Amino acid sequence: MEEDGFEEQAAMLCPRCHDHILHMNLLPDERPCWKITCHDDGTASLHPSVWRKKDCGVHFWLRRGRVHWT
Ligand SMILES: [Zn+2]
Repeated sequence: MEEDGFEEQAAMLCPRCHDHILHMNLLPDERPCWKITCHDDGTASLHPSVWRKKDCGVHFWLRRGRVHWT
């Protein structure tokens, strides 16, 4: 999980096509929004799953810093 410097947003390179950046809003008063959970081992999880309907249509869960394909 890479942080882009904005606490209100998480960003990571698309794990499917590696061709675009996925931005996940973390502010609860905006939609859609994601909840990020940081674990003791330094990894992070996102909820709900990330689903990009345009571009490559990537859909995955990020759990403990690892991509889990749906
Ligand atoms: Zn992609």
